[in-house]
Amino acid sequence: MARYTATIKAVHADGTECTHKRTSTGKATTPDCTGLDGYTARCRGNGCTWTSSNTQKTALETLRNQHLRTHLNPPAPNRSA
Ligand SMILES: [Zn+2]
Ligand SMILES: [Zn+2]
Repeated sequence: MARYTATIKAVHADGTECTHKRTSTGKATTPDCTGLDGYTARCRGNGCTWTSSNTQKTALETLRNQHLRTHLNPPAPNRSA
C-alpha cells in the first residue's frame, strides 16, 4: 500500500530551505539566514510531483491536506445531490 506524505518546509526568498532558528515573526537570528519568506510543500508519493508554496503555513497545510486526500480518494464521479 502506497503511502503519501507531503512535508512542509520553511524557505528563504531564493527558495532554499530555511532550517535556521528564527524569531516568532520569521526574522533571521543568524547571519547566514536571509529570513523566512514562506513555506513550500512537496508530495513524496510514488510518481507524484505535486508541489505548492505559500507565505502562510496554515494555508499551505490546507492545500497539502487537500492534495493528500486526492491520493486516498480517487476523484469521485459527481453524485447527484
Ligand atoms: Zn534561514
Ligand atoms: Zn501527491
